[in-house]
Order: sequence, then structure tokens, then C-alpha cells
Amino acid sequence: MAPIIEVWDLVKDYDKVRAVDGVSFTVEEGEIFGFLGPNGAGKSTTIKILCTLLPPSGGVARIAGYDVVRQAEQVRRHIGIVFQDNSLDDRLTAAENLYLHGLLYGLPRQEIKRQMDEVLEMVDLSAWKKEVVRSFSGGMRRRLEIARGLMHHPRLLFLDEPTVGLDPQTRAAIWEYIKLLRQEKQITIFMTTHYMDEAENCSRIAIIDFGRIKALDTPENLKQQLGGDMITLVPAEGVDLLPILKERYGLEIKSTTEGLCFQVSDGASFIPQLASDLGLQIRSIYLRRPTLDDVFLNLTGRAIREEKASATERLRFSTHRRR
Ligand code: ADP
Repeated sequence: MAPIIEVWDLVKDYDKVRAVDGVSFTVEEGEIFGFLGPNGAGKSTTIKILCTLLPPSGGVARIAGYDVVRQAEQVRRHIGIVFQDNSLDDRLTAAENLYLHGLLYGLPRQEIKRQMDEVLEMVDLSAWKKEVVRSFSGGMRRRLEIARGLMHHPRLLFLDEPTVGLDPQTRAAIWEYIKLLRQEKQITIFMTTHYMDEAENCSRIAIIDFGRIKALDTPENLKQQLGGDMITLVPAEGVDLLPILKERYGLEIKSTTEGLCFQVSDGASFIPQLASDLGLQIRSIYLRRPTLDDVFLNLTGRAIREEKASATERLRFSTHRRR
């Protein structure tokens, strides 16, 4: 089967910024595909182009085989959209919001009623069907928006930062619904996020920075490529272990506020060896598995949430101009 999303060399220029800088990828039917990157990386711009809301400056994007520029109408029939801005009418009830959406998509009335009950059930809002949206919490609104995005039976659902601004419990609940959708409806999900822990739920992730894809793989493979376990060692007071670790063990060490950080292929056997060699010269030592934060740090040299969008913009502007 052809991929449901195909993107080749996509480019988007705003006045002074190249927001998307030659992005290519494909998404297979049934995947939960995540675009992960810091603020200003170009995630929203890409998703807007794929949803036909913004024309690209270059490149090609196809959804379910349809070109997002030349066949926008067909593309829209196949996709559901849940964006960050709340677009529900909070003076209307949950049912009325869904009903309007069904009408806009030209669904027959009977079909709207049937589908409304099904999608409300799916996001656990059946009991709130006749309640005015104004009385809903942030999490309930987001769930209703997801339900609305599903009204017209899309094959592909676009979610732009679906859990931003929600508390951790609600974020976890939203994820349960997203996974359920994939399981029960075989809907493909394309989502953006800057939450590392959420990206772990995706079947594959593209890590995007300054409008370019830096890596694309399953979360597990991305972490495995880093090779092994992350170890942080804090030397005893007044002891400098950096030269010993470098010379004797040939380790590449990063000195951080937490201690000396390095990677080894098998931490569980390396730690006892280190403890027996260096003994009381070590104050503490701990091991953890690599996270997507480590992957991002390794690819870009900085943590994902280190930079503000304005700094990103300045940097991107200067690289763009130099080319
Ligand atoms: P993300 O979703 O990853 O935070 P965006 O796609 O929103 O990133 O933005 C990518 C870059 O494009 C940023 O530098 C941003 O400031 C810039 N940008 C986004 N929208 C516009 C716009 N309408 N006009 C000018 N610049 C924009």
C-alpha cells in the first residue's frame, strides 16, 4: 500500500525566515507519527501545509495520494484536524458543535446523529452530550475537539501539540484516547509535540530543528543509536577523576552540574569495575537508560527546551542568509 503521507523536499519561507528547509518523509497507514522539536523548529508550519491551510514555497506533499496544493479538496475529505487554538463554540452544547461540523462536511443528518454518539463514546463524553461547552474543563474540550475531528471518518488525524497546556493526568488520558483510535479505527495519527515523554508513544519520530529533519526512526532505535547506558559519576570532594576516566578507560566525558557524564555499552557490569578500581575516590554513581532528550542533545548539541523561539529565529535567519 502507498504511504498515506508523502513529503519531498518541502520548503516554506516567511518574510525573513525559512521555517521549513527541505523536509522529506513518508508515513504509513496506521502509524502514530510524531514531529518532535523545540519551539520555532517548523512543526506547526509543516502540519499546516499538510492540512492545506498554508501553501508551501517549494517541494511536494501528498495525502492519501492527493497533492495538498492541486487537490486540496480531496485532501480535506481524508483528514481530521485538531489544532492548538480552541475552535469550539463554547455557547453551544457538545452535540451542537459536532452537528455543525457534520453539516459542514455534508454528512446526512441520520449519519451525523449516529456518528456523534460513536465519537462521544470514544472520548468518554457521552454523559456531557447536551451540556454547554463553556462548562467543560480544558481536557474535556480537547477530547471534544478530537471527537469532532473524527466526525467525517477521516483516515488521518492531525494533532498539533494535542496536550499542550493540560495537566499531566489529562495528558495521559488524551494519550489513551489517541492509542485507542489507532487500535480500534486504524486511523493514522500525525502529531507534533515538544514533550519528549510523549514522543515515546509514537511508532516513529522525526526530530526536527531549524526546519530540518535531524533523525527519523522509532523511539527505541533512536535511543539505541546512542549506544548503551548513561552514567553520571560524582567524584569525592577534591578529587579530579576526569583525566583518569579519559585515559584509563578511553571514555568521552561531559562535565555537567550533576557530575561527569559518559556512556558505556554495559553499565551494569562497568559500575562494579569502576567501584573496585577507584573506590573512595567516587562519591556517587548512577546509571540510566538514554532518553529522547539525550538523543536531541546528541544531534543538536543542546537540550530541547533550552532555547526560546526568538533565539531560534535569529539563528535560523543568519543560517538562511548565509546560504
Ligand atoms: P513550531 O511549530 O515548531 O514552534 P513554527 O512552524 O510555528 O514552529 O515556526 C517556524 C518558524 O517560522 C519560527 O521561526 C517562527 O517564528 C516562524 N513563523 C511561523 N509563522 C510565521 C508567520 N506567519 N510569519 C512569519 N514567521 C513565521
